[in-house]
Amino acid sequence: MNIILLGAPGAGKGTQAKKLAERFNLSLVGTGDMFRRALSNKTPLGLKAKEYMNKGALVPDELVFEIIQDNLSQDDWERGLLFDGFPRTLAQAEKLDTMLAEQNNKIDRVLYIEVPDSILIDRLVNRWMCGNCNKIYNPETMPSDRRCSACGGELTKRADDTPETVQKRLIEYKEKTEPIITYYKGRNGLFERIDGSLTIQQVFERLRKACESTHAPQQT
Ligand code: AMP
Repeated sequence: MNIILLGAPGAGKGTQAKKLAERFNLSLVGTGDMFRRALSNKTPLGLKAKEYMNKGALVPDELVFEIIQDNLSQDDWERGLLFDGFPRTLAQAEKLDTMLAEQNNKIDRVLYIEVPDSILIDRLVNRWMCGNCNKIYNPETMPSDRRCSACGGELTKRADDTPETVQKRLIEYKEKTEPIITYYKGRNGLFERIDGSLTIQQVFERLRKACESTHAPQQT
């Protein structure tokens, strides 16, 4: 089973992707996390991506495929994939279809987590993240010692969660990523809209049900 989580920055894709990947035993493909890891390891690819990420711009498609190539093994492809933050352009979506088709595989479900812009901006500028396990916090949920309640890691602000960069990221999303909705919507039974303004658990339940009702291809 291959699932795409679509949604604007701040829609909650990362939080939900982690929970869904665990629940359905899928390999998690979070391209933003892959780039941040590459950057903290100071790899050439991470340093190239940084120029774009810190401006709130999308990283060029060829670098995105490079990071995916570097991070995914054949086992991951065979196990089933959960995409978080990828694809983000029409060209990425088309290439992903081609890559899957070459392995007699396909996308089984596209789940679009929808959240109004006013909530997105508020969530992004107020969010804190564990530098170790990526768990997300806001000022209400943040432990007073600024340590992650799950792993003890240090909580930090993402460099691209400033008000100016958030605006730019939302513009990039609307211009380059939203057209993907139309691309997938036309396909029978693939696309489902989920209300992302509900609680984390309520959103998870809806996503879980959508995944459970997804027909997984038979293993041969
Ligand atoms: P995210 O953690 O998903 O919000 O991604 C953080 C940043 O990484 C984005 O603002 C982009 O600069 C870059 N990025 C992540 N995934 C992609 C992608 N699929 N295509 C282009 N840029 C990406």
